[in-house]
Amino acid sequence: MKIDIVSVFPEYFEALNVGLFGKAIEHGLLDVKTHDLRDWTHDVHHSVDDTPVGGGAGMVMKPEVWAECLDDLLELEPVEIADTNDVADSSKQSESDDDSENPDLSEANPAKPILIFPNPSAPLFTQRDATELSRADHLLFGCGRYEGYDARIPRYYRAQGVDVREYSIGDYVLNGGEVAVSVMLEAITRLMPGFMGNPDSIVEESYTGQNALLEHYQYTKPAIWRGMGVPDVLTSGDHGNVNRFRRDEAIAHTDRLRPDLIAQLDCKSLDKADRKTLMSLGWEVSGSHPRKLND
Ligand code: SAM
Repeated sequence: MKIDIVSVFPEYFEALNVGLFGKAIEHGLLDVKTHDLRDWTHDVHHSVDDTPVGGGAGMVMKPEVWAECLDDLLELEPVEIADTNDVADSSKQSESDDDSENPDLSEANPAKPILIFPNPSAPLFTQRDATELSRADHLLFGCGRYEGYDARIPRYYRAQGVDVREYSIGDYVLNGGEVAVSVMLEAITRLMPGFMGNPDSIVEESYTGQNALLEHYQYTKPAIWRGMGVPDVLTSGDHGNVNRFRRDEAIAHTDRLRPDLIAQLDCKSLDKADRKTLMSLGWEVSGSHPRKLND
């Protein structure tokens, strides 16, 4: 996979050379290039930001600098486009909490990299997005700073047929997109075939698969540590019972912390024991998805 990252702090990504990510670069599984956005400026101060139109605090990243950079990396000629400054259209996008902002791919140009901007006011980046993006050939990340980037940038490149995604990594605001890009990159690349030493370790993880749950608790040796034991069943050697115990623990853990994930399970895929556990936790398991009683 080719990965390009544009940032005003490209040195931030030197940390990627460690651990499994570093090994994947070394083995040629990943080809990562970082770019300094300021290389596309023309003024003596190398400025990439300007004051917000309409007033207000902070600075906004300029579209001209980003566009010169992205045109180069995407090999696109600058064009004037019919202005789609359609507030209804952009608010429809930002209200979306499903994949509709990110986007109808049928019109996107598959020969171009997927262009990804981290943005706290975009749909949440999930394991599903990471899984989909782990199959891409080429990703291009643009790290925002200050109050963010001019909103016309993603609109312009979508209009050029580029598959543009904007993702938030959580309900909080960071200083810049570098951390968010690092988070997305870790989540995406570890799902690539050949990335993990043991590919089985990503099969049964939290948020993974069609019927995603939080994972069961994990323990290692010693079986007793500072007076604390592990559940007896885990040392019984009975794999059937161990699997059932872990599955029930995953269901109970998810019920406690993320009942929204239980409510998305497909009832048809639940076995008798799953149903029994869910019912004991107050879920009705009929119809297409479980429903919490007394909600
Ligand atoms: N004014 C923006 C707002 O209130 O939504 C915040 C801008 S933030 C200080 C600067 C940049 O950091 C953003 O453009 C984005 O690239 C990145 N960023 C900050 N928080 C993020 C989050 N939760 N998820 C993804 N990117 C984030």
